[in-house]
Amino acid sequence: MTAEKSSTPVECEEFQQQLPEIFDSGVSIADHPHLKTCALCSSLVRDLEYIAAQAKLIMPIHDPSPAVWDNIQSALQQDGKQGKDRA
Ligand SMILES: [Zn+2]
Repeated sequence: MTAEKSSTPVECEEFQQQLPEIFDSGVSIADHPHLKTCALCSSLVRDLEYIAAQAKLIMPIHDPSPAVWDNIQSALQQDGKQGKDRA
């Protein structure tokens, strides 16, 4: 038994440590050379991208709509009232 031998190759460990930075930087991770030679990390990245895509799908829906429309409608109504009062 050697302490150096691990189930994950060093290349993969290094790549996986860089993953958060790569995702943050917005660079297309699919272009990373390591993915072209490593099926293990390819499937890992596919999982991560799937999760990230789901998160992006969910967040905008919860984000703006009803409150924004309320603001727009009440702003329009106030404008209309003020206009009538003045006229
Ligand atoms: Zn790898």
